[in-house]
Amino acid sequence: GLGPYDPNNIFAKILRGEIPCNRVFENEHALAFRDIAPRAPMHILVIPKGPYVSFADFSQRATDAEIVGLTRAIGHVAHTLGLEEAGYRVLSNMGQHAGQEVPHFHVHLFAGRPLGEMLP
Ligand code: 5GP
Repeated sequence: GLGPYDPNNIFAKILRGEIPCNRVFENEHALAFRDIAPRAPMHILVIPKGPYVSFADFSQRATDAEIVGLTRAIGHVAHTLGLEEAGYRVLSNMGQHAGQEVPHFHVHLFAGRPLGEMLP
């Protein structure tokens, strides 16, 4: 697995304000910001504010309120940016085989072009 939560990962630094991000939305439990290397015209990351290394960790340890907060943040961003008509994709890479690079759970939101059958 990914091991224990590393408080020095890049998204932890973004949450602490030590590294800037292009913020799109924030609620009590989640932060949404633009991916630094976008793979679609719209590529946004939505992360919980709590210390969870992956989807597996988040799904097992997060409170119901945190899970609702993150889920609603994703939906709110997509709705507010007008992505529902053309459609979008929600994706999370969990662990080595999925290619997870940052060990703080994050959900990708891709939109703005036809996204193909699998990964953008
Ligand atoms: P993963 O491969 O872990 O699912 O996705 C990590 C994502 O984080 C990548 O799409 C990468 O471009 C993005 N990323 C990495 N470092 C930074 C950063 O410092 N700021 C922002 N906004 N995105 C980052």
